[in-house]
Amino acid sequence: MDHFQYKNGTLHAEDVAIPDIAAAVGTPFYVYSTATLTRHYNLFTEALSPLPHLVCFAIKSLSNVAVLKTLGNLGAGMDVVSGGEYLRAKAAGVPGDRIVFSGVGKTREEMRLALTGGIRQFNVESEPELRALSEVATSLGVTAPITIRVNPDVDARTHEKIATGKKENKFGIPIARASEVYAEAARLPGLQVIGIDVHIGSQLTELEPFEQAYLKVADLTRRLRSEGHTITRLDLGGGLGIPYTRTNDAPPLPTDYGALIKRTVGDLGCEVEIEPGRLISGNAGILVSKVIYVKNGEGRDFLILDAAMNDLVRPSMYGAHHDIVPVAEPPVAAPTQEFDVVGPVCETGDTFAKGRDLPLVAEGDLVAFRSAGAYGAVMASEYNTRPLIPEVLVNGDHFAVIRARPSFDEILNRDTIPAWL
Ligand SMILES: *Cc1c(COP(=O)(O)O)cnc(C)c1O
Repeated sequence: MDHFQYKNGTLHAEDVAIPDIAAAVGTPFYVYSTATLTRHYNLFTEALSPLPHLVCFAIKSLSNVAVLKTLGNLGAGMDVVSGGEYLRAKAAGVPGDRIVFSGVGKTREEMRLALTGGIRQFNVESEPELRALSEVATSLGVTAPITIRVNPDVDARTHEKIATGKKENKFGIPIARASEVYAEAARLPGLQVIGIDVHIGSQLTELEPFEQAYLKVADLTRRLRSEGHTITRLDLGGGLGIPYTRTNDAPPLPTDYGALIKRTVGDLGCEVEIEPGRLISGNAGILVSKVIYVKNGEGRDFLILDAAMNDLVRPSMYGAHHDIVPVAEPPVAAPTQEFDVVGPVCETGDTFAKGRDLPLVAEGDLVAFRSAGAYGAVMASEYNTRPLIPEVLVNGDHFAVIRARPSFDEILNRDTIPAWL
């Protein structure tokens, strides 16, 4: 469910007509809906009630500070995976005790940053990281609250690039070695063990892998407690998938996911954290682009857009599908045509869709990629010296640019020429 619908024949973001935004900021651009962000965050908190819980938005899916502030104002926590993301959460006004630090390669500088600025917990992913964090915390004279991320060795049945819970993945410690690693954590100075963390992957479309993982976490909680550890918090990660097409089977709802959490770990007396990214941000954003040319090739027709793989990399990187719709609503039963939808970047990989059946569109028309809020703008680059595209936030009948398109001067001024030239 989202708030990008046709009204009076034109695609709107909430109550704002997309062509009005295009006229103000130019194309291409991302636009996000406050109402959708809010709705999705609320679905999760309602699904977990009455368990004591914190929904920590995975910033890496959509990290604009205005989006973080929108969610932070609702009470959301934040899951960060870098010092930069930590600073974004702080810039959005989120207090340190609602920020969780995940990630497989935290540096000592990042640890210092979070320990001095305030942190809810570190999700530690390895023994060397435990030792580094112990050293940094001790040198600062503070205690770092930690969970340890365990790798439960379950198959998330998702795209291989975003599956993280199999034993061959780089994430977490093998669950079979948990006793040993928790014992070391308990011995090290400057660390306070408070719980267990798990995250098995992204874009999961079934509940079963979560169930397997959470049952293992429940067992581990009992075992670690019997070994003398105090386990009061379970971080269950993110990963719930979203529908990327209007037609395929819809992934499980947050309500069902919440019920599963209560069923598997609800009786342990722990505070529960989850780290959803995509399910909050994915359908809260679209990418709007303009048709530059309609090119008739041999046996196929190309729709050449002003957006490209550098703006939205998911199709070329993961073979991901995004629904593409014209901004002007096509009449019912309007004729369609098959297009290869491509961008202007000099790579064949710069293809958004092949043989996609689309209503007839012409040069200058606007089209929108649906479900582009997550892993869209955050993965953009300036490949081909294409400026990062603007981000716009809609709230009811008004909108604001929340990141402006840089000028070419700004881009060129970042390069510096050495004295010998
Ligand atoms: C990427 C990630 C998430 C968010 O995943 P989504 O699929 O966007 O919900 C949560 N936690 C960790 C540790 C991650 O790496």
